[in-house]
Amino acid sequence: VISVFGSANMDLVAYVTSAPSLGETVMGRAFHTVPGGKGANQAIAAARAGARVAFAGAVGDDAFGTELRAALVDAGVDTGLLRVVPGPSGVAHIVVEDGGANSIIVIPGANGTVTGPDEEAAAVIGRSRALLLQLELPMAAVVAAARLPGAEVILTPAPAVPLPGELLAEVDLIIPNEHEAAVITGAADPGEALEALLDLVPEAVVTLGADGAIYGSRDGTRLRQPAVPVEAVDTTAAGDTFAGALAVARAEGLDARHALRFATAAAALSVRRRGASPSMPSRREIDRALAR
Ligand code: ADP
Repeated sequence: VISVFGSANMDLVAYVTSAPSLGETVMGRAFHTVPGGKGANQAIAAARAGARVAFAGAVGDDAFGTELRAALVDAGVDTGLLRVVPGPSGVAHIVVEDGGANSIIVIPGANGTVTGPDEEAAAVIGRSRALLLQLELPMAAVVAAARLPGAEVILTPAPAVPLPGELLAEVDLIIPNEHEAAVITGAADPGEALEALLDLVPEAVVTLGADGAIYGSRDGTRLRQPAVPVEAVDTTAAGDTFAGALAVARAEGLDARHALRFATAAAALSVRRRGASPSMPSRREIDRALAR
């Protein structure tokens, strides 16, 4: 089992030619509500990539909460650890420009009420191969989950914030994008950031968008994985698809190079389609892409 302890948000997505600057109004082309949140996205990505996945977190007692649970269940994610709390579910207000670039405002709602994994969640996490964490829950809750014994801890440090030492001490693998890597390490160059990350945690992947990803381990391994060239339609959940798929590949025992290839193939497939969770590829699609 792979456990994910994280956020579930309803994504409110507007598609525009070019995002408005402050004070400006522009006409958009389309609007969708799509289940998202980094936690739920990574859970759905991992389930679609072929793993048994348990999701722990919280939704509100509103219509979005019901939809969010249904989306997880649809993807095959176990929602037995997903709690319903009074008040609104988390939402993410997303603007996607032509070409796929996006900007996002997250309003935590129910996610902001989570204080840590409850007893039942802690037991499942303890029995898991991997625990996927992100930073859309309160930091204290993330730290409490990371401290649980058992699972390998894989952290996507997004949104980018300074990371407490008590969290870093528990992390086995960190997966920042280029921007997050720079915020954490102060190094603008991704290669330098990777080396600085390895002073903090045993393994790191810095994702570089259309330039792929670089990997390093304290055992001395350094890898560069180019992206799959695709026409980018919407990169909203590329990083979450990458993280979910990478966790699955590692849980199946793939070595670093093959796990990177698997995650890169999955992320490229997600970039070609719109939306967060609906864009995530199935195991069959990933295997087919890798066989090419
Ligand atoms: P995030 O979505 O967290 O900002 P990135 O943009 O770095 O993360 O993307 C994560 C991964 O998704 C990359 O390492 C790459 O494999 C894949 N990816 C992202 N953008 C593209 C793209 N335009 N074409 C192909 N693959 C992409």
